Amino acid sequence: MSTKNIEHILPPPAPHMVGDGFRVHSFFPGGRLIDKKRMSPFFLMDYGAKIEFTPSAEPRGVGVHPHAGFETVTIAYHGKIAHHDSAGNSGIIGEGDVQWMTAGSGLLHKEYHETEYSKTGGPFQMVQLWVNLPAKDKKTAPKYQEINNGKMGQHLLADGKSFIEVIAGSYEGTKGPAFTFTPMEVYNARLQAGGKATLTLPASYNTGILVIQGSTQINGQQVAADHFVLFKNDGEVITVEAKEDSILLVLSGEPIDEPIAAYGPFLMNTWPEVEQAIQDVNAGKFGYLED
Ligand code: MN
Repeated sequence: MSTKNIEHILPPPAPHMVGDGFRVHSFFPGGRLIDKKRMSPFFLMDYGAKIEFTPSAEPRGVGVHPHAGFETVTIAYHGKIAHHDSAGNSGIIGEGDVQWMTAGSGLLHKEYHETEYSKTGGPFQMVQLWVNLPAKDKKTAPKYQEINNGKMGQHLLADGKSFIEVIAGSYEGTKGPAFTFTPMEVYNARLQAGGKATLTLPASYNTGILVIQGSTQINGQQVAADHFVLFKNDGEVITVEAKEDSILLVLSGEPIDEPIAAYGPFLMNTWPEVEQAIQDVNAGKFGYLED
């Protein structure tokens, strides 16, 4: 096996607001370096770098909006996020938790800061991924997986303190709880200063690492917090070593080699499918959700 070499180390793009609750750096898709298929099956990554929200009586967030044709995966590092959708699912995720929502055939949802967190304010840090679905599963029924931190696989590393937290896929036999429609690996590498890990991932898998916290060496190159490392599809092995206590979000998945028609909150294979989704929303087929 050979090294999976670094293609680019990307600093965070200028942030923008999603509603009034999510200040995000959109690493992909877009720009010159990561087009809409480069990280497939991961279509989009919005990173809410750590910021402080002031107390607010009214929870900040984003109101009712539709999604169809993919999954939204929200990973909380600081703060708490509440979710409600028109399929009848709701939940609250806090530090270390993950919400894995399958929009599939279509639903409405809203995403807000959790009420008590809103009242106190404080640090907030999160990631939202949009995970594409293959054509055969685009119309799957909406589904909601609330993955509390305690449910995740934990693989202890050689120093006895650092570990790989497995959200989806598996790391050296330790499995993650998330059900996925296509093969992928999603981990948080939680490393103490001096902690080391070796990641072995298929060369064909599109792979990236977001440095959530700390300063690390990835394949021997220094990478600062809030930077995203995109890997080439040339080998299997990545080595990481924490210079200080660090958290790395590792994403790696088998590409979905199908056409993409992406428009707003819809991720389909063809433009007629996008038009149909818009018509379905307007006809009330995505259900009802109170704002
Ligand atoms: Mn949404």
